[in-house]
Amino acid sequence: MADTKFDLVVIGGGPGGYVAAIRGAQLGLKVACVERASTLGGTCLNVGCIPSKALLDSSERYHQVQSELENHGIGVGQVSLDLGQMMKRKAAIVDQLTKGVEFLFKKNKVTWLRGAAELTGAHTVTVRGDEPTAVEGDRIIIATGSTSARLPGVEWDGDRIGGSTQALSYPEVPGTLAVIGAGVIGLELGSVWRRLGSEVVFFEYLDQILPGTDGQTAKQALRLFKKQGLEFRLGARVERAVVSGDKCVVEAAGMAPFEADRVLLAVGRKPATDGLGLEAAGVATDERGFIKVGDGWETSAKGVYAIGDVIGGALLAHKASDEGVACVERIVTGVGHVNYDAVPAIVYTEPQIASVGATEEQLKEREVPYRKGLFRFKANGRALAMGHTDGQIKLLAHEQTDRLLGAHIIGPAAGDLIAEATVALEFGASSEDLARAFHAHPTLAEALKEAALDVDGRAIHA
Ligand code: NAD
Repeated sequence: MADTKFDLVVIGGGPGGYVAAIRGAQLGLKVACVERASTLGGTCLNVGCIPSKALLDSSERYHQVQSELENHGIGVGQVSLDLGQMMKRKAAIVDQLTKGVEFLFKKNKVTWLRGAAELTGAHTVTVRGDEPTAVEGDRIIIATGSTSARLPGVEWDGDRIGGSTQALSYPEVPGTLAVIGAGVIGLELGSVWRRLGSEVVFFEYLDQILPGTDGQTAKQALRLFKKQGLEFRLGARVERAVVSGDKCVVEAAGMAPFEADRVLLAVGRKPATDGLGLEAAGVATDERGFIKVGDGWETSAKGVYAIGDVIGGALLAHKASDEGVACVERIVTGVGHVNYDAVPAIVYTEPQIASVGATEEQLKEREVPYRKGLFRFKANGRALAMGHTDGQIKLLAHEQTDRLLGAHIIGPAAGDLIAEATVALEFGASSEDLARAFHAHPTLAEALKEAALDVDGRAIHA
């Protein structure tokens, strides 16, 4: 007879849930994790962060071979695309990582309960797998994540009109791809297919791309993306998208209908709570369906907690993981904390866009006095040697205390460079601290030091 009593039952095996489960086991709890998919890892590993990065990397290489190598003095002759192999490579990476989580579960003695979970009592979860099984957990953590939001009038068929999952596996390079929403998903996957040869046209409701991103950085990103051949229809409220014959037609208010081979709908994500039995269990949600949590990520039902996308905030894997760890630590030790002022966010386009902390717009709104330091990659020796000089680093520091408040990077390896700024923010560093620290030469990180020096108007190479 399999175990049915656990100290902790985690619902969802994504980066929030699986990390919470492992941390619980490390702290001595007897843990089960319920996951209905055939693999662990959730959206991130299976149909999100990881496969999209695999395709972004492959497509960027394809693009570079075609357009950048000549300048380096390298001739390669005819370049061809084997989309099947590109997809196979992506699948192998996903496979390796999801099996890796399974291995970690075994290593940490976390029980994987295969099936869909429903809360059926104060401490009871019914797992509907091959046959329904009721398991008991002293504590339950809901970490079920999110799914693609739909748009009225957009007739999603899960094939020609679909979301990111479909766009990660198109069987051929679409001649024309219409992307609804110029947010993170649209821009990353739109970039993949543009590099592979599609004509990519964005329909974005707002007058800018990447809402919430530092304004100056978003404007610069738009200019660079246009240079790459991505097309943007801003202020475009899409009202209808349908499959018509062997084409799709997209209609935005006040604009001529647009014909495309495929449509990617990327207008945000909604909490995944269907079938969980939240209402019966007394777990309250907000008006958008996100689970409400209080102190220590506890929901309105005692002993039931929620973390990650399903509670809203930044819908990011690392935010979910850190909440998972802190939630479990709080349960076991009484202490657990997440610093929501220092959550980095990265868009893996080329150039990458990365940020942490407050934007200029937020500081103005909050009437926080600040100084700004800016350094462009075109004056950085390493960026020049790489041939990737587009972009800049912007640092924001408090006018009186010099405490670092935000960092906004657009440029080569921005996603890696932001780690230094994140640690600086976490440690309450000043821009002077960054400016005084050694930064090896020649590296892209020197641009961060120069931006920090520029806060005080003393950048050397500007
Ligand atoms: P998003 O919120 O980033 O962008 C959605 C865009 O759609 C917005 O610009 C919005 O104005 C636009 N929009 C909404 N309704 C529209 C309409 N009717 N017509 C035209 N445009 C419309 O959402 P997303 O790109 O779908 O991503 C979802 C979430 O997943 C985000 O929260 C993101 O943080 C996360 N994500 C992160 C990464 C990463 O960290 N690299 C990658 C992928 C997804």
